[in-house]
Amino acid sequence: MNIQETESRYTSGVYPKRELVLVRGEGVYVWDERGRRYLDATGGQGVALLGHNPPSVRAALREQMDRLMICPEIFYNDRRAALLHALQAILPGDRPWRIFLCNSGAEAVEAALKFARWRTGRVEIAAARRAFHGRTMGALSATWNPAYRQPFEPLVPGFRHIPFNDIAALEAAVGPQTAAVILEPIQGEGGVWPADPAFLQAARALCDRHGALLIFDEVQTGFGRTGRWFAAEHAGVLPDLIAMGKGMGGGFPIGAVAFPADWGPLPTGAHGSTFGGNPMACAAALAAIEAIRTEGLVERAAHLGAMFQERLQRIRSPLVREVRGRGLMIGVALRTRATPVLRRMMEDGVLALPAGPDVVRFLPPLIIEPEHLEQIAAALERALAEAPLPVPQAAEGGEG
Ligand code: PMP
Repeated sequence: MNIQETESRYTSGVYPKRELVLVRGEGVYVWDERGRRYLDATGGQGVALLGHNPPSVRAALREQMDRLMICPEIFYNDRRAALLHALQAILPGDRPWRIFLCNSGAEAVEAALKFARWRTGRVEIAAARRAFHGRTMGALSATWNPAYRQPFEPLVPGFRHIPFNDIAALEAAVGPQTAAVILEPIQGEGGVWPADPAFLQAARALCDRHGALLIFDEVQTGFGRTGRWFAAEHAGVLPDLIAMGKGMGGGFPIGAVAFPADWGPLPTGAHGSTFGGNPMACAAALAAIEAIRTEGLVERAAHLGAMFQERLQRIRSPLVREVRGRGLMIGVALRTRATPVLRRMMEDGVLALPAGPDVVRFLPPLIIEPEHLEQIAAALERALAEAPLPVPQAAEGGEG
């Protein structure tokens, strides 16, 4: 049996698979088992901020592996302390943060929801239509897509979804029972929709007025992806809780949620995770943050992202509806289905993501060079030139 057959036979089946076996990666490239090279504009689903197998993260992991791989949070650890300290310098605002460390984005969202309920003693959570926050029961309750939710109902009670960027709807939804409002500053899986700064500012003001908490899900937008360390900074809004994941560990699994230090510590036993704060993940995240800083990748994402958007906007195709996004988080909304376009781009050696049925999404490594961006744009241009002109059909799952 070959690799695909074996995996297909035994895997859960929950992922939409592509006909591609990846066996190696370096920088912006990945290789398949036949040695063919692909330019990875999926960035490993937004994880590979530093590209594949970044040398500094590899070195940190290797060193840590030789010293201590296992250290649950019932003990203190040097790498964990260093990471918690390093995060203070990059998290938004001037105030100190406390941080719960975990292993994924959904877990970070779960923790944020629990902490918000604990802190306020309230139950209700307002989220946005098109939002994606993960697929565990709490995170799924905040996620909007009915196709993801319905098979698993009843979900956690107390959640409601209001139209994104609709201040009046948010005003109507937030009140004295509201524990929290949870928002992605740029919706990712839902189609790459940036929040209006005025919407985020209104959310902040409404939460303050009603004693509710504002949670930003920066799992996809965090750590420089959008041209600021955190996308909250574009709107000048300071949330109470920030959920993080994806690129935080430079490719190693880690998630986190930050909350204001002046809350004091949460009660012992209020939450936990066996692998949370493990020294391997902490060492990887420390190295990743350091590399993002020293290589100037936040500014690079802002600069190259603006260039790339401008290039994509110059594509003259009747199939392009709109180019959206910020930094190196960019969606090209189409008047046709994204999947055949992505397939055609793959034949050209370029990997990209969908975001809903009709958006092609690019989450390339922040170390990418202008010529790579040109290669991506040219591959999209060619794919669109060959695509037929149908209208999008019913909703289809993303990969996120
Ligand atoms: N929140 C957002 C905004 C995301 O984009 C994702 C993943 N695409 C998640 C949460 C869930 O993260 P994970 O898959 O690591 O659980």
